Parts: sequence; structure tokens; C-alpha cells
Amino acid sequence: MLVMSDSYQRLLEATIRHLEDQKAQGVKFIPLSQETLAALVSPRVGESNAAAADPSRSPTRPTPALPLFESGTAAPPPATDAAAVPASHGAAPLDLQTKQAAMAELRTRASVCEKCPHLAASRKNVVFGIGDIHSPLMFVGEAPGADEDEQGEPFVGKAGQLLTRIIQTMGFSRDTVYIANILKCRPDTPGQSAGNRKPTLEEMKTCLPYLLAQVDLIQPKVIVALGGTAVEGLLGKTAGITRLRGQWQEFRAVPVMPTYHPAYLLRNQALGEKRKVWEDMLQVLERLGQPVSEKQRKFFLNA
Ligand code: URA
Repeated sequence: MLVMSDSYQRLLEATIRHLEDQKAQGVKFIPLSQETLAALVSPRVGESNAAAADPSRSPTRPTPALPLFESGTAAPPPATDAAAVPASHGAAPLDLQTKQAAMAELRTRASVCEKCPHLAASRKNVVFGIGDIHSPLMFVGEAPGADEDEQGEPFVGKAGQLLTRIIQTMGFSRDTVYIANILKCRPDTPGQSAGNRKPTLEEMKTCLPYLLAQVDLIQPKVIVALGGTAVEGLLGKTAGITRLRGQWQEFRAVPVMPTYHPAYLLRNQALGEKRKVWEDMLQVLERLGQPVSEKQRKFFLNA
């Protein structure tokens, strides 16, 4: 049984009173630092911390069902204990239920977001994100296209299918990683019946708090930024993906690997370009503490 000290009890009551006052004044959300959030949800002395154990920090790595870009891809070796890799995020891990509830609440808020009225008016669906919210590996793209807007899921069009094959060749599956975009709504294209446009800086800035909250909840060990716009949206860097790809960056203390967007690989089928993306993914696997087979290491070397 947990015994609370008098001072703790008084502090708790004062906090509750303060929050009730705020609520009465119409305040709906209280900004919290990552440290405070972690302290609030971390197991208290005397309580079992079994619930805080997060069994999913290492995504399961099923045998790849599809080769990356051609047949003959070897199944990767079994996963090592990724728990051996220290979580790069400084905050204490969140317990499963807290994380699930917070993510569901965030999704609900995003689903009715109207901060960009023009996008809210033109979208069919808010494309929040998909996958395992406990995964150490997160992929971040630019914005939903027409297929994603239609289905409410990121990366389901042609580029998405290629991303899925890349993920599978790494030894994961779509449901063991988490996939999201900088922008949760499809950028509108007034007067055009087809085509996509790059999100504006203003749109990215407006939408970024959702991604930021997703990252803080998921606490991945690695983020893969897909393409120049994702890098710009996450890191504010405009140096260009050609210069930045393959070089570790950081977003909220999480290592970020910039790489080419799969749509670029669909446009440019050169083996050399595929090899570059694969080298970036090898760095990601190494950072996650996942073993890499000799065969995997040599993919696309004959470019
Ligand atoms: N391109 C992206 O950047 N994101 C998607 O969800 C689909 C295509």
C-alpha cells in the first residue's frame, strides 16, 4: 500500500484546486515539459513498476515477405536485445496505458483540427499516423497525397508501397514501426483535379505540435526523415536532402536519419540511388542494435 506524506497530500490537493480553477476559467490544456510529464507518469515509490515495462521496445522482425527492389533478398538475422541500446530520449519511458490513452486523445484532437481552415475544408480525412506506438523506429514523411487522404492512412500509395518494402527488407513490418507525416492533412490544390504540392512553411509550423507530441509519446530510438521537406519540417534545415542524407541529426534528443523520399526512388531508378537509401537504413539498423547480415550489407553494391 502506498502511504502519502502530509506535504505530498497538501501539494496534491493544491494542484487539484489549481487545475479545477483553470478548468472553471475555460482552460482545456495545460502545457507540460517532457520532464514533468515523465515524472507524473513514472511509477511511484511502493507501486509495482511492472506496468512501466515496455515489452515492445524492440520491434519484431518477421522474415521479409517482399524484397526491397528486386527478388532474392535474404531474411535478416534474428533481432538482438534492442534493450541493450540506451533510449536516446532522456525522459523516463511512459507506461503502456498512459501512452495509449494520450495518443488516442491526441488523435481525437487532430481529427477535428481546423487550424488550417483551407486544408480542413478540402481534406477527406486527417491522416494522423499508423503503426506501433511503442516502436523504437519511426518514419516521418511530408504530407498525405490523394490515396492517403482517401484512406486516412499515411504512405499507402505507390511511394508508400515502396516504403513498406524498405521496412520489410530491414526486417520489420508496417505494424511494428510507426509512420507519420509532418502535415496531417493533404495540401490542397485549388483549381487542380490532381497532383500534389509541397506544404507551406506556415502549414508545417501549424501542424508540427501534433508530430512533436507523437514523438514525445512514442519516444522512438530513431526517426527516419523521408525527403527534404520532412527534414525541413522537423529540423528547419534547408540545406537539401542530397547534402543531409546519411548524416545523423537530432530532433527532441532523438537521432534522426535523413534519407531520400521513396517517391524520389520511383522517379530515379538508378541502383546507386537505391544503395544510398539502403546505406542510410543500415546505419539505422546499427543504431537500433539490430544485427545485419553480410548479404544485407552488400545490397546494391554493383551499382
Ligand atoms: N508521401 C508522403 O510524404 N507521405 C505520405 O503519407 C504519402 C506520400
